[in-house]
Amino acid sequence: MDRRDVLTNAFVDELGSHTRSQNNFIQAVRHVARDVLTIEKNDPALSNAKVLHRLAEPDRILSFRVTWESDTGGVNINRGWRVQTSNVIGPYKGGLRFHPTVSVDILKFLGFEQCFKNALTGLPLGGAKGGSDFDPRGRTEREIMRFCQAFMRELAPHIGPDRDVPAGDINVGPREIGYMFGAWRKFAGQYDGALTGKGLSYGGSQMRVEATGYSLVYFIQAMLEQNGRDLAGKRVAISGKGNVATHAALKAQEAGAKVITLSDTSGTLYAADGMSRDLICWVQQRKDAGEDISAPKEKGASFESNAVPWSFEPEIALPCATQNELTQIMAKDLVDSGTEIVAEGANMPLTDDALEVLNASDVVHAPGKAANAGGVAVSGLEMSQNSYRRSMSAQEVDNALVGLMKEIHARVAEEGTQDGRIDYARGANIAGYRRLAQAIQAQGVL
Ligand code: GLU
Repeated sequence: MDRRDVLTNAFVDELGSHTRSQNNFIQAVRHVARDVLTIEKNDPALSNAKVLHRLAEPDRILSFRVTWESDTGGVNINRGWRVQTSNVIGPYKGGLRFHPTVSVDILKFLGFEQCFKNALTGLPLGGAKGGSDFDPRGRTEREIMRFCQAFMRELAPHIGPDRDVPAGDINVGPREIGYMFGAWRKFAGQYDGALTGKGLSYGGSQMRVEATGYSLVYFIQAMLEQNGRDLAGKRVAISGKGNVATHAALKAQEAGAKVITLSDTSGTLYAADGMSRDLICWVQQRKDAGEDISAPKEKGASFESNAVPWSFEPEIALPCATQNELTQIMAKDLVDSGTEIVAEGANMPLTDDALEVLNASDVVHAPGKAANAGGVAVSGLEMSQNSYRRSMSAQEVDNALVGLMKEIHARVAEEGTQDGRIDYARGANIAGYRRLAQAIQAQGVL
């Protein structure tokens, strides 16, 4: 066992027995700990300040009951949480996820990741994550509205434009943000930017919907540019069919790449010669309508039941669905078929043993905390637009986003370069840590 593993194991042990069953959280902490603990231990000021410990124990976890009525009058009870991980570099910031798998473990992992991601943007954004185990599938519009209102009734006292600014995540898009913003405005008795991802008619930012997926492509372009290459003609496999996946697909297609897959839990939509813009938009419409994507009418596209995108020999793989979706055997498929880049649109989509396979190969891996940071970065721009009561044009936001992703790439590349190769995961962890550590040290023991 090398020193990094010894330090990491000791650190995880010290987190205490209450974290032992939080597998996703421990997985996320381990990734960062392996890269930063050697730095922390070699610097007495950092180790005395217990920087990583202070980030690995959230400032607080709010937990509440959400009680709401279905259309038939039945009473439903869900659980809601907000994990406020750290506001050392800015107001708590991070999305809300509505999914039956949401738990304290998942939200602690996401809040922890968010701290590092937000630090990498260079913007004043702390880290948080929240959500509910509510399953929106099969629910009517009115039920979704009542759920969002009930959820916000509990959360409203704890958020605000300078305090904690939630946004969307899985199953929380413009519609849900609209209902939750309306509810917050009523409960708080004020009008302000307490949420991001709002609609354009009431304080939202241009490009927020597109930002996460687009920024993933901007990050890959920055990676390719390092070696004088570009996306034209590249076979890009994408998993998922949600906001991140489809906007990454649209931007990659626009840049001349062949987008060969999108997917859902029942299989993969495959187009050997690349999807048209129309086909990607069709996927968006089907998803919005709650319908499946198993019957594409376009020539050259088929739905392969039970297949995953990683078996179609892509040059670039973009996991954009959810955590731990890409397993060891799938990673082996990617390596064997000569994949060059795996860049994460989802948060922590690779299992640990999948990561090991990639690390032992020539595949370059870009972690979500760097590669998908454009979503929260545009949320940061939405917050500033709300503060100074004006709005930027789509072109201005897009230009700013391209610039931000180039800066993130440069920061990560600088910290991650070793023997002429860039270790993007290590670079992201160290660059994020350095910014957080400086702020933690400067602000004393609190
Ligand atoms: N949920 C998104 C993420 O994973 C966005 C968070 C935000 O905009 O606050 O970064």
